[in-house]
Amino acid sequence: MASIFGHGLVAYTTTKVIDSKSNKLLVFLAILSAILPDLDVIAFKFGIDYLHPLGHRGFTHSILFALIWSGFVSLLLGKNRKLTFMIVLFLSTVSHGILDAMTTGGKGVGFFIPFENSRYFFPTQVIKVSPIGVEQFFSEWGLRVIWSELKYIAIPCFIILIVHYVARKLKSQI
Ligand SMILES: [Zn+2]
Repeated sequence: MASIFGHGLVAYTTTKVIDSKSNKLLVFLAILSAILPDLDVIAFKFGIDYLHPLGHRGFTHSILFALIWSGFVSLLLGKNRKLTFMIVLFLSTVSHGILDAMTTGGKGVGFFIPFENSRYFFPTQVIKVSPIGVEQFFSEWGLRVIWSELKYIAIPCFIILIVHYVARKLKSQI
């Protein structure tokens, strides 16, 4: 994975750009959705192989999972804004797999599970894979992770957020 900060920031940016109302519940659910797929690390505890469809970066990182999860949560909590909830939560969930497919380590992402079990990386693998432990996170490895996420996740997200903010301000003045 990229770090939870990287995943969370992409979800936050997605919500801000799509939801003009900046619904707080939706921001929270989007960040949760972007972190959720990594719950599958629990598979290792059950002895499920990494490359198994239910292994790490398997089904919970797939497009189908993102559809089911975002559909379910939108129906449950979206009230009269189900479509906005669904779009934001789908993109946030699927963004997790996209970032993972750009990391330098681990195995690829099973975007098409259960229809097709191959694992995929994008041609551009620039995000350093994040250590799981806190101690390791503050090591030199951790610093390299932070630097690569700053460059490839945080700075692009901030640019998008600033442009979006300015565009909205200008629009409200017209
Ligand atoms: Zn992941």
